[in-house]
Amino acid sequence: MVASIHRPTRIIVHNEAISQNVKNEIARLPKGRELFAVVKANGYGHGAIAVAKAARAGGATGFCVATLDEGIELREAGFTEPILVLGVVDVVYLPLLAEYQLAFPVASENWLVQAREYLATTEITAPLLAHVKVDTGMGRIGFQDKEAVLRGIDTLKTLPSMVFEGIFTHFATADEADGQYYQEQHAAFKDILESLPEKPRYIHVSNSATALWHEEELGNMVRYGVALYGLNPSGHTLEASYPLQPALEFVSQLVQVKQVPQGAKIGYGATYTAPKAEWIGTVPVGYADGWLRKMSGFSVLVEGVYCEIIGRVCMDQFMIRLPHEFPEGTKVTLVGKNKEQEITLQDIADHLDTIHYEVACLLSERIPRDYQ
Ligand code: PLP
Repeated sequence: MVASIHRPTRIIVHNEAISQNVKNEIARLPKGRELFAVVKANGYGHGAIAVAKAARAGGATGFCVATLDEGIELREAGFTEPILVLGVVDVVYLPLLAEYQLAFPVASENWLVQAREYLATTEITAPLLAHVKVDTGMGRIGFQDKEAVLRGIDTLKTLPSMVFEGIFTHFATADEADGQYYQEQHAAFKDILESLPEKPRYIHVSNSATALWHEEELGNMVRYGVALYGLNPSGHTLEASYPLQPALEFVSQLVQVKQVPQGAKIGYGATYTAPKAEWIGTVPVGYADGWLRKMSGFSVLVEGVYCEIIGRVCMDQFMIRLPHEFPEGTKVTLVGKNKEQEITLQDIADHLDTIHYEVACLLSERIPRDYQ
């Protein structure tokens, strides 16, 4: 998709906020524990390359991505730090993982069988950096019990070029106030770690929530994701131990301002009827930008005033009710500060009954990202 640079709609990403969030987290980590910045899904919609640079400036020593392609994107942009692909990668791509020196999860015995078959016919000379994934209760990917993990590690070590570089798990409820399920997962992983005959280079269990709310004695690296972007992983539930600085601002402009008479209809389906003469502004953002139709009824900021979205959000535009006439070209803030007021990704998530992660990832590539 082409970014629409000739439209007055922008996402502004504040690099300094990202660097500062990383610095604040590193300052809390026990000495020697590394921080890998999670920049999957195009840096949670913020732009993977720029976020990775800002995170590195703050002290991140490696990166996590979700897919092989995302890892290659970082390598081709010149990043030489360790990169871990978090999702399962098909064994036919082992040569690419080796070529780009991307670490990857080994998550099942079945995968190892396929890898053995593949490596019997394809010679790979560069190291294959395997991180054994343990499913301690997330139910997503990973070996499910200690015996399977130990068997998996033994098998892995017999495969040509394969290096047992890491072991990890992922917590399902680290962002919740009730720590019971977290403790069960924690205990299961600790038990497995203690039974390992040798420890790999990287042991990692912490996402942002774990890093923020669980004084975690396990591991020597954290996979720092959503907090990197200044977003609280728990939403409203738990308070972060340091101020998280939101990195993303989403702005546009009024492209048309008009007064409509009482009874005028606005938008598809003519669902809104002006109860009296009103000033209406049109904003060039729509559901094709990830600004969903359900955003109808939400308010955006114009000169520090909340203005409600009226009628249905269109594919490329929506309309707002203005308190009075504003000049065309006036700035509209969809996310960020405007005068004394602020709209957060969390506010949008609340309106949509979802999480800010999803809101950020949905912002489409049509919106140019400016980095400041
Ligand atoms: N580790 C894994 C395996 C993940 O899937 C994710 C994100 O979904 C993260 C770390 C980062 O999580 P967060 O963004 O909550 O910090």
